[in-house]
Amino acid sequence: MVRVRLRNPDRVEQVEGPLDVGELLDRLDVNPTTVLVICDGNLVTASHDLPADAEVEIRPVISGGADGPSCAVCRAPAVIEEPRHRAAWCPVHYVDHVQNQVRKAIDHPQATPARERMFGYADRLLVAVSGGKDSLALWDILLDLGYRVDGLYIGLGIGGYSRRSQEICEAFAQQRGAHLHVVDLAETYGFSTVTGSQVATNRSTCGVCGLSKRYVFNQVAVERGYDVVVTGHNLDDEAATLLGNLLRWHEDFLARQRPVLPATGANQVRKCKPLYRLSEREMAAYCVIRGIDYVVEECPLVDGNTGHEHKEILSALERAAPGAKAQFLFGFLDRHERFTEAEGADDGPTVVACGRCGMPTVGEVCAFCRQRERILAVLPVTAGAAPAPPSPATDRNVAP
Ligand code: SF4
Ligand SMILES: [Zn+2]
Ligand SMILES: [Zn+2]
Repeated sequence: MVRVRLRNPDRVEQVEGPLDVGELLDRLDVNPTTVLVICDGNLVTASHDLPADAEVEIRPVISGGADGPSCAVCRAPAVIEEPRHRAAWCPVHYVDHVQNQVRKAIDHPQATPARERMFGYADRLLVAVSGGKDSLALWDILLDLGYRVDGLYIGLGIGGYSRRSQEICEAFAQQRGAHLHVVDLAETYGFSTVTGSQVATNRSTCGVCGLSKRYVFNQVAVERGYDVVVTGHNLDDEAATLLGNLLRWHEDFLARQRPVLPATGANQVRKCKPLYRLSEREMAAYCVIRGIDYVVEECPLVDGNTGHEHKEILSALERAAPGAKAQFLFGFLDRHERFTEAEGADDGPTVVACGRCGMPTVGEVCAFCRQRERILAVLPVTAGAAPAPPSPATDRNVAP
């Protein structure tokens, strides 16, 4: 029997063999565009034959894959195919493919004004790493391409998941001789994602978490003199966000959804998403091929996140029509001006300094300070947490 390990939830299935990978996925009723199949530590394609005693892992990622057994560049046996590009690659040329897509995102379009461009080799970049595949792959790619890039990990206090994520980020930084900042939300600001969301009744857990992360990324970047914050948002993330914004006709969000968000005031750094041309599946495959250890398990609090449902809908579309997801997102980005014109302004409302912490806001007190004050009014302040205004004073550097 072929022994199959499936993830999220973790389980083992036995399937009668021999058979090929495509048949195996069919029998298990798994959408091949949403997974990677790993056998003996290597990625395998749909046509790969599995002996009766094979052991395989089916790793969920959400995105595209079918046939194409030889590399599009050198004709060597392919380890991954991407129907959207109608191509397959060997490990060496797959890494080139991914890095080329990132270069394209960084360099394109050259014609835009300087503040709309991503970044250059003189800029100091801060990559927000979670321990997941996208952010670690992004850090790896940017280091490989020669950029000046450090990492920032935020301890969200989500039990064992946060501990494992931090260990993985620290191990990556040490292996690559890269510099990682670690900021613990509870130690620095007095609440964690879990404790904060229990008492912040007007926001979901992901809402409390997302607001805190965005705030800390910007604050650390400003205080440590970084020019740009880069995040691992990929094609699936951006397409799912686009679908959600369109379903609710959030025109203001549509106007601001683009791969580069320029700084619009003091104490604000540019934010860029260099992975917007690459799918989740492409990023997971990159990590496997490059030997990057990442947290495969999902955040245990992900349930309330509607982006996940939108991703599944788009993946079903992608299965029927490879390339649909990219057409959807890139078509929107090509027409983006229509939404900024509709909004009447590129940068939205005027940004001023928060009266408590000095970070950018559109009101008197920023949303993070208001959230923190509400939470700390209920929670006992954690020993060592800084009083207002908060500052990442407990930043622990992991230097090479
Ligand atoms: S799933 Fe929600 S709670 Fe978990 S890390 Fe993401 S935003 Fe935070
Ligand atoms: Zn090749
Ligand atoms: Zn503030």
